[in-house]
Amino acid sequence: MTVKTEQDVYKNFINGEWVESGVEEVYEVTNPADKNDVVGRFPLSTEKDVDKAVKSAHEALLIWKKVPASERAQFIYRFIELLDENKERLGKALCREQGKPLNEALTEVTRGVSEMRFVAGEAVRLEGLTLPSDRRGVINMAVRVPIGVVAAITPWNFPVLTPLRKVIPALICGCTVVLKPATNTPLTSVIITELLEKALLPAGTINLVIGSGRKVGDALVGHPLVKGVSFTGSTQVGRNIYETAAKNFTKVQLELGGNNPAVVAEYQDLEDGASQIVAGCYGNAGQRCTAIGRVIVLDKQADELEKLLVEKIQAFKVGNGMDPDTKIGPVVSESARQTLVNYMELAKKEGAHIVVGGRSLTEGQYQNGYYFEPTLISGVSPDMAVAKEEIFGPVLILIRVSSFDEAITVSNNTEYGLTASVFTDNMNLAYRYLEDVESGMVHINNGTVSEGHMPFGGVKNSGVGPYSIGGTNKDFYTELKVAYIQHK
Ligand code: NDP
Repeated sequence: MTVKTEQDVYKNFINGEWVESGVEEVYEVTNPADKNDVVGRFPLSTEKDVDKAVKSAHEALLIWKKVPASERAQFIYRFIELLDENKERLGKALCREQGKPLNEALTEVTRGVSEMRFVAGEAVRLEGLTLPSDRRGVINMAVRVPIGVVAAITPWNFPVLTPLRKVIPALICGCTVVLKPATNTPLTSVIITELLEKALLPAGTINLVIGSGRKVGDALVGHPLVKGVSFTGSTQVGRNIYETAAKNFTKVQLELGGNNPAVVAEYQDLEDGASQIVAGCYGNAGQRCTAIGRVIVLDKQADELEKLLVEKIQAFKVGNGMDPDTKIGPVVSESARQTLVNYMELAKKEGAHIVVGGRSLTEGQYQNGYYFEPTLISGVSPDMAVAKEEIFGPVLILIRVSSFDEAITVSNNTEYGLTASVFTDNMNLAYRYLEDVESGMVHINNGTVSEGHMPFGGVKNSGVGPYSIGGTNKDFYTELKVAYIQHK
């Protein structure tokens, strides 16, 4: 919602200073659990702000890229200490602006702390390449150099972890950064930027510009001084970014949507399988790119699995994330909830059966938030829209199949290819799945939770560009400079 206000408005951070955008229109972020709770007022910045931020990052690059990598790491270690000290503050801000339960929010921050320790340590392992020369007295080598100014554009679903996973590796690699957080969740990025400032990073190395994707995001991607765009978000926006970036041959790393399958075939411990599937589906109210969206089960075990899933889903407590008993918080916005309502209509129209959930929660404690019942939809055939599209909410689709071959075909029957799971005691099936599923990441006998030091990314319409994490993300944030050195 945009408002005109005399009240305090959060500022952008450009060239080492907190500065007003100068725009008259600002917008309010409210708590998804209670729309009367105003989290803060933020600027809808403009192309001018973007230009200032990019130029400041460009100037800072001249200094920052010459700081030895091990010294750059010292700044980051200082920042990580501050992050650790501010865990509680960040976790609460995250819960309030995004809606996830506080314990999930705190886990996100804790995970950020440990992942960034790993990333900082990688500063001294930015290895290049040496190869023997064809000529006498010549040394051939290729060293890594930072690509330059990087735009980090982040979504609202992991508003602490995703900015960290872009900003910190970029800085470690010697790039400077302009961060644009999602309009729904700017507060956590303000706090992260404050902590980077406190860690005494040189002015201009990190810049924060708050505002809409259409204005700020677009201007950043198209700016000629931006040499890399690391984006996490929807496939649709990713496609626009790819097109815009191509005009300047700007390097991109696009981490996009997913519609992730979990196959259950010849798996004895269905209780374990069901527990892992619901954990993989309903965490963060299903708003995870790696959430399990579809369970594909062989006919033989389908009834029993469905029964177990229903029991577990019915036991979830939906509520305000600040309540320690809450397992599932609200979805992020009214429009996100409306999308879910529309999918329920579509599922019914297509002939599917809503086994549990399927409705907005609007009465009593839920009346001021964007709550939606955790949902299981059965009787789904693979070609229905609800089976093929990313729903991005607390909704699981159950598809019955008659053979393992069919399970693989159905797994691949979507534009996405981010992550996939198979639960089976038959290792032949496990290996076949590993080989044939079209997915960037595959889990055997566990849910779809990735680990921070492993590469992360997807195939098909789930992503383009070097996989992220895996340490410094150095294949994205650096490029090779090749040297031939003749000695006498
Ligand atoms: P969006 O794609 O709508 O937005 C992501 C970011 O891009 C936001 O900061 C948004 O700004 C910005 N943006 C919007 N339009 C443009 C534009 N034209 N140019 C540049 N930037 C733009 O995604 P959501 O925030 O809704 O996030 C959910 C999506 O993210 C899901 O599809 C999910 O699967 C995916 N995702 C993927 C992950 C992965 O690693 N593969 C991880 C997490 C999420 P604004 O907020 O102002 O719209």
